[in-house]
Amino acid sequence: MDLFEYQAKELFAEYGVPVPQGKVASTPQEARAIAEEFAAAGTSRVVVKAQVKAGGRGKAGGVKVADDAQDAQAKAEEILGMDIKGHTVHRVLVEEASAIEEEYYFSFLLDRANRTFLSICSAEGGVEIEEVAASNPDAVAKVEIDALKGAPAEVAADIVRRGKLPEQAAAGAVELITKLWDVFVGADATLVEVNPLILTGDGRVVALDAKVTLDENAAFRQDLESRKVAAEGDPLEVAAKEKGLNYVKLDGEVGIIGNGAGLVMSTLDVVAYAGESRGGAKPANFLDIGGGASAEVMANGLEIILGDSDVRSVFVNVFGGITACDAVANGIVQALELLESRGDDVSKPLVVRLDGNNAELGRKILNDRNHPAVRQLDTMDGAAAQAAELAAK
Ligand code: GDP
Ligand code: MN
Repeated sequence: MDLFEYQAKELFAEYGVPVPQGKVASTPQEARAIAEEFAAAGTSRVVVKAQVKAGGRGKAGGVKVADDAQDAQAKAEEILGMDIKGHTVHRVLVEEASAIEEEYYFSFLLDRANRTFLSICSAEGGVEIEEVAASNPDAVAKVEIDALKGAPAEVAADIVRRGKLPEQAAAGAVELITKLWDVFVGADATLVEVNPLILTGDGRVVALDAKVTLDENAAFRQDLESRKVAAEGDPLEVAAKEKGLNYVKLDGEVGIIGNGAGLVMSTLDVVAYAGESRGGAKPANFLDIGGGASAEVMANGLEIILGDSDVRSVFVNVFGGITACDAVANGIVQALELLESRGDDVSKPLVVRLDGNNAELGRKILNDRNHPAVRQLDTMDGAAAQAAELAAK
């Protein structure tokens, strides 16, 4: 789970990692009020930063320095509502502006390929580290971290030396890095990235940006819930999230429901391919109903998909495994009844392909029910073609 920058900085502050003072605003007026507080305390220059879970906000115009509270309001007005790499900006972080002397790069991460933890350090920060690594690999130090030893001062000093951070930043960087390791371990993170790590005009080393990914496998001992910000954005995605569904809205017309992420991914491909020669229909969503496709989960999934006004046909693609096809077929029948009893419109064509465990029985259940919206096909390609055709009509 990725954190927003302001959440990552709150976490840093809990562990004593130096970060600029700041507060979050969701309206330009709130941004102004925060800037006024800073001004009253003696700092009138602030930075207004878009809070989206995407990098390159600076380049996209989502990070702006404001001279006073009035200006902070104006900058927040510009940034709120902005689209950065497909993410709408709903909040801004208003921070005391920092006097940047130099910008460095530092991160701890889980290096899965090498089965180790890794630190990456460079005196060339503020830009994308991948670019630095490509154009000037010698400027990027990669130092493996022994999980048992961690990153005490002597390890941090070695990292800082290999990253070629200048003398005047060394002591501050070493201290910050040791604390950052505490964050990494304490919060069960798989990534803590600071880009840029800055040296200020008055010689302090501060985390100016913060990116943190937490390991959801550690949810049993971490309070991840409190860090989850209410879902926002596409209303269908919000509704799906509330129902615990694995749903992503796409821009086509064929609604997709499948069991298992791999099957759903390949269903998207097959439908997109079938659509190419059938009027250009494309998948309208990704929806994985997982292993136990109960009637309720099926009903919730169908409700979301049928509620999408872009959807013209639905492809239910199920491969029976532990949850056999007859259970899924019963789920579909009950889901349709449930939706009809609620007064939902279930007239959009539903193309169902059941295969695998108890496929024959599943098909029989649907045939016997003989619902006008449902038609069955035996193969994935055939069903995809039919769903694409129906959507193109
Ligand atoms: P990113 O573009 O999403 O990585 O956002 P960052 O938080 O890294 O900010 C991008 C850039 O904005 C930084 O590299 C800085 O050059 C600049 N910036 C951010 N905060 C400040 C600040 O307080 N003062 C000044 N002068 N520049 C800042
Ligand atoms: Mn950054």
